[in-house]
Formats: sequence, C-alpha cells, structure tokens
Amino acid sequence: MTGTDDPLPLDGAYLGGEHEEVGGIWRKASGLRAIVAIHSTALGPSLGGTRFRPYPTVAEALADVLRLSKAMSYKAAMAGLDQGGGKAVIIGDPADLRSPALLEDYAAFLDTFGGRYVTAEDVGTTQADMDELGKHTRFVAGRSVGAGGSGDPSPVTSYGVYRAIQATASVLWGTDSLAGRTIAISGVGKVGGTLADLAAADGATLVVADVDEEAVTRCVDELGATAVGIDAIHRTECDLFAPCALGGAINDKTVLELACQAVVGAANNQLSRRELATVLRNRGIAYVPDYVANAGGIINIAYEQGGYDPVAAREHVGRIFDEVTNLFEEAARTGETLEAIADRTAEARMAAATRPASG
Ligand code: NAD
Repeated sequence: MTGTDDPLPLDGAYLGGEHEEVGGIWRKASGLRAIVAIHSTALGPSLGGTRFRPYPTVAEALADVLRLSKAMSYKAAMAGLDQGGGKAVIIGDPADLRSPALLEDYAAFLDTFGGRYVTAEDVGTTQADMDELGKHTRFVAGRSVGAGGSGDPSPVTSYGVYRAIQATASVLWGTDSLAGRTIAISGVGKVGGTLADLAAADGATLVVADVDEEAVTRCVDELGATAVGIDAIHRTECDLFAPCALGGAINDKTVLELACQAVVGAANNQLSRRELATVLRNRGIAYVPDYVANAGGIINIAYEQGGYDPVAAREHVGRIFDEVTNLFEEAARTGETLEAIADRTAEARMAAATRPASG
C-alpha cells in the first residue's frame, strides 16, 4: 500500500495505535483506491463520511482518514449518539473516477467491515453516490428521501448551530433570545443561509459575507442583512461571529481582530491550531467547539438507522443547547476552555463504554 517516496512512514508510531481497524482496497479495473479507518466502536458502529479527492500520496490520504475518523469519534460522543467514529477516503478526482463500477466495488469493500463502519456523504461525494451505494450495501446513511434516507442534513445542522447560539446567549446575556443582537455570518450557503433565516426570525440584526454574490443578495433583500467583504466579516463589531464557510476562519491574525463576544458556527476546523482556543478565552471571547455546534447533521443521519424519525432527530439536535450549557458551567468551575472540556468529556464517554462491567 505504500510507495517508497511517500513522505510519512507507516510504522506503529505514526499510526499511534489509537485506531481499532484500518483497511485499504485497490481495484485496477474500476480505479477504486480507498481506505477506511475505524477509530472507535466503543459507543456503537462507527459512522462518518467518505471523502473523495485526489490526494497526492497514499500517506497523505492515510493521515487525513486517521485524523478525520478520530474527530468523528469525539463528535458522536459529544452528541450523545450510540455511534463510534470512522471515516473513509477514495483517492482520485471524483469528476474523472466516479462510476457505477467504482461505487459497486466500494460497496463490497464496505460490506467487509460487517457494519462496524457506516459511511455517508462528505467532500467530493454526493447524495446520489449514497443512493447508488445503497443499492449494494446496507452500510450507508444520508441517502435521499426518495431512496428511504433522511435527505440533505444541512437544515438540521443549521438548527443545531442555532441551539448552540441560543445556549451561548443564555450564558452571556441572560436570555436565549437574539432580539437586538448583531450576528455576523461568514458563508451563507446551505447551513449559514438557513442559520441567517433562524437568527433573523428571532430578531437578530445580520451582517453577512460570502464569495457567492447571489447568496449575499438574498440575505440583504429577504432578511435586511448588511453585506461586508469576506476579509472584513470577522472584524465586524457584533455580539456573535458565526463561521459557516471554510475551515481556519480563526487563525493567528484573525483571532486578534475579532470584535465579538462569542464565536459559534458551522464550519469544521474553525481554529487553524488548537491553542487558539486559549487565545480566544484570554481575550474574553467565548468559543463553542465547532464539532459540538455542528453535530446536527451527524445526529440526523444517525436517526436513519432502523427507519428515519425526523421528530426524534430534531428533538435530539435541540439538546445541543444542553451540551453547550454544560460546557459553559464546567468552564466557569475549572477555568478550562470549552474545547478542552468537550475533548475530555468525549474521551470519558468512550472510556466508560469500553470499561468492563465490575463484579
Ligand atoms: P456550502 O458550500 O453550502 O456553503 C458554504 C458557503 O461559503 C458557500 O455559500 C460559499 O460560497 C461560501 N464561501 C466559500 N468561501 C468563502 C469565503 N472565503 N468567505 C466567505 N464565504 C465563503 O456548505 P455548507 O454545507 O453550508 O457547509 C458550511 C460549513 O459547515 C463547511 O465547513 C462544512 O464542512 C460545515 N458543516 C456542514 C454540515 C452540513 O450538514 N452541511 C454539517 C457539519 C459541518
């Protein structure tokens, strides 16, 4: 599986021994080259998307799938799901490689894990891909409504971020209402756009930025939002900044320019490096860990298993409010960042599930 010129050694130290199982498949005929990483099944079958992109080396694909699958364990554990963390990568350009034969080979590979890994959509894969996989394997989630799935998770993700914002508002301002608050949203796409709708309906004043002019115009025309440039949105004087575009919105430069009291958004990997959670805390800016705020999508998909129940899924997503409230309470006691407490809580939940019963 390794080329001699791969930059990262695939030895035990590199793998870290943290993952339960990692498997790869190569199929010349269909062009499938995929890796599945199961980080933990302590809380249940591992769940996580398939990322389809042209990694330059196998080592980079492996590093990504190991990192992402571990993050999924933490996200599922903090979301209170009976699910573990896993992830998969297909190496190559989906525009060139995607074919029914490749997806059929991939479905057969998923079957070899016997349900210990359930896949879903991620960067480079689509709901149509999930529907196609679903013709050949049971171990796929996030299919379209027409194929018996839960459909696009984005609106539910938006609702979860909104609940995280409400919890933050309760702690900071003594009310979960956003009336009279200014919320700055970077990226008003599928998740950020619906979040803008929810915040506006709650009486918030919106400031938005997006590279997509149409998305911005909709917010200005329909929600009375003020538009600012994508490089200025984080500097906007506001009560709360919601990064809902790409990762890395908070970096060494932007962290010092923020003019808000809180950062709560949908984007994955909002901090360019973990230590910035401490910089934010020291600046008096509350930061809700992205993987706690944006768990609505994975919670929704988890409710597909055994027949999708949208009411139960939404009710579960609503409890992100309680998770975030608990993090703030613990932070007030210990002085830690919410990020550190969330990581510790997730680890404790996984450890409790794997501990042998006493007596
Ligand atoms: P999307 O592509 O629909 O929306 C992203 C928006 O950001 C687009 O409108 C895009 O034009 C805009 N954008 C791109 N570059 C930008 C920049 N530099 N500045 C400002 N705007 C920019 O994607 P989405 O599904 O809404 O996801 C948004 C984020 O939330 C991503 O980081 C994603 O990983 C994360 N997330 C999404 C879900 C979900 O259910 N969709 C779940 C969890 C996490």
